[in-house]
Amino acid sequence: MSIVLSIKNLSKSYGYVRALNYVSFDVPQGSVFGILGPNGSGKTTLLGVVMDVLRANKGNFYWFGQPGTSPELRKKIGSLLETPNFYSYLSGTDNLKITQAISGRGTKKDIDDVLKKVNLYDRRWSTFKSFSLGMKQRLAIGAALLGDPKVLVLDEPTNGLDPVGIAEIRNLIVELREKGHTIIMASHLLDEVEKVCTHAAILKTGDIISTGSVEEIMMEEDIVEIGAADFSALAEFAKRLSKTVLVDEKARTVQLVFAKGTAKLDEINRFCFDNGIVLSLLTMRKKKLEARFFELTNN
Ligand code: ATP
Repeated sequence: MSIVLSIKNLSKSYGYVRALNYVSFDVPQGSVFGILGPNGSGKTTLLGVVMDVLRANKGNFYWFGQPGTSPELRKKIGSLLETPNFYSYLSGTDNLKITQAISGRGTKKDIDDVLKKVNLYDRRWSTFKSFSLGMKQRLAIGAALLGDPKVLVLDEPTNGLDPVGIAEIRNLIVELREKGHTIIMASHLLDEVEKVCTHAAILKTGDIISTGSVEEIMMEEDIVEIGAADFSALAEFAKRLSKTVLVDEKARTVQLVFAKGTAKLDEINRFCFDNGIVLSLLTMRKKKLEARFFELTNN
């Protein structure tokens, strides 16, 4: 698989604040690549550097194998780093005409194609103010799609949206990937990332702490989920079963983390039973990205 963006040892400081610390990773073509991290971990700074809005202190980045950026190269990359200013009394079509004229990306003829791609073609003559939040964000992604860029860079594309709006953007991202776009997005909505991203990099105070396919990031350990009628006794006893215990009060289950290939379900069952705990749930499961993220970031 070819690499769309390769980041090598990027470092960036704002005065004494180190926002990125020797960050390196590769974004494969055709992936939905999530850049994850708690607030202030450097996600926006990273996107700013690779989009040439900010200058790194050290390191390099390569789009399609070429160092830095150029006007020619920028045509292959659409970005949505800030919400664009759309005019509320103008239609979706007219707003995109203005964006197209200002940015010079694509031609007026592309506007209908973009509106179809973001599923707003039927509402193209409705005013922007009549759009739902999800539709407004889809129009913003449409603006980034002018000129049919191969890659889309999105900073927190579901920020501020309700669950319906989030689902709309999630579906759109999946559709755009199916149409051949590579999508790089910063997000802190881990559940959403888990649903749409194929790959991810996890940042913590400027350091990369894990990167690879989402499967790889989640499957670095064996996770055993257990449940019992006496949940508080189970949560207490679980500390004797594994060094890493994640207690889910809401689901009334406990997750035990073991090194890959070392969890033995029959031994866990016997040990619990011998100590007066009868398990009603005992299953090996894939770790949720969220759990992995909290563990990696000690959050
Ligand atoms: P969030 O999720 O809150 O948007 P983030 O992961 O995108 O955060 P950045 O905005 O890149 O993180 O910030 C990384 C660090 O750099 C933070 O400590 C932040 O306070 C600092 N920082 C960002 N921009 C500036 C700036 N212009 N001047 C000084 N410090 C900054």
